[in-house]
Amino acid sequence: MTERMARPETAGARADAPHRVREAPRPETMPIYQTSVFSFVDVDDVMDYYEEHPPGRYLYTRNGNPNVDVLAESVAAWEKAPAACAAASGMGAISGALLALCQTGDHILMSRDIYGGTFVLAHTILERFGVTLSTADLSDTAAAKRAITPRTRLIVAESIANPLLQVADIRALAGLSRQQGALLLIDNTFATPLLCRPLLEGADLTVHSATKYIGGHSDVSAGVVCGNEDLVARVRQAIATVGATLSPFDAWLAVRGVKTLHLRMERQCDNALRLSEALAADGRVKVHYPGLPSHPQHRLAQERFAGRFGAIVTICLPDDIEQVNRFMNALPDIPFAPSLAGVRTTLSHPWTTSHRGFSEEQRTACGITPGLVRISVGIEHPDDLTSEIRSAIDTVLPA
Ligand SMILES: *Cc1c(COP(=O)(O)O)cnc(C)c1O
Repeated sequence: MTERMARPETAGARADAPHRVREAPRPETMPIYQTSVFSFVDVDDVMDYYEEHPPGRYLYTRNGNPNVDVLAESVAAWEKAPAACAAASGMGAISGALLALCQTGDHILMSRDIYGGTFVLAHTILERFGVTLSTADLSDTAAAKRAITPRTRLIVAESIANPLLQVADIRALAGLSRQQGALLLIDNTFATPLLCRPLLEGADLTVHSATKYIGGHSDVSAGVVCGNEDLVARVRQAIATVGATLSPFDAWLAVRGVKTLHLRMERQCDNALRLSEALAADGRVKVHYPGLPSHPQHRLAQERFAGRFGAIVTICLPDDIEQVNRFMNALPDIPFAPSLAGVRTTLSHPWTTSHRGFSEEQRTACGITPGLVRISVGIEHPDDLTSEIRSAIDTVLPA
């Protein structure tokens, strides 16, 4: 170290400089590249970066970071996707996709029970730029066909939709969108790639809110888009340009989630099936779950989802907020937390949270009523869950 370097101001500014000269350690887990920028030896080096895009080289974290890329690659491997990119949230991913794929004059067809944020993005932002939007029940292929227009460029649906868990026939939608020369984007958040790989069924892009099952512990916001190289390159550029960039630490957390996704999801789906069967047998509340024979797309789900049906169960309490509150208050260990997919079971109330942005008519058209409670089933012992929820139902609808 030179004399000059020894001055505290200089030494402080360069406090982590020794890492540049030490031999690289070999940590068991991936380090977090918590850096906004990467350095270059000289101008030749930076020109080489621009021209050759050497793998493993980065310039600026908003445009690319090793932790963010590893998250995208790990989800692409599950989805069997040729390419993927990540964003700061599920909405960052969906915004990137819609901004990359739509232009003035295009028509977007969305399922009418699409995630509220996706609807609001198209309705309040894209419509201002001359994109038109309509919605239809896309779990009904005939209705989907009727809703397509000559200007339809993009169809957006969810493999399992919220909150009534309608299952989309992705192959049928892919056929319709191909006929029309439109692209099909599937939000695969609820199903996860464990149940469904939309690209293998003909979808052009899939998006995930990795905030949900991929992260799995309710401690991170992230999103991923999967598809072919060309589409993903366009989406990646849109995400970087609008700055919906995922932070390295959040990417690292989401990658930790990917490691146990299949274990959590298997257990959560098993628990959800047991809970839904117990509540259906109990008979006091209507139960929506694709694993029950009473579900309108049960056969389709059986055929497409590799024997599992997801980990969300929705029940109908009486349409009275006071009774919904009584039910929630009877479940001290199952919090009302308006998200989903953590290892702990939580409740949500679509009428006042996820679908609050919908008009009352829209909510009614989607079958969303004030008494609907969505249960995101966790990894607890299934007998505990069933007995806790049944005794909470006792407080509303005594046996
Ligand atoms: C939560 C969610 C989103 C949005 O994801 P964020 O990470 O909250 O931005 C999109 N689609 C579905 C189906 C979701 O559940």
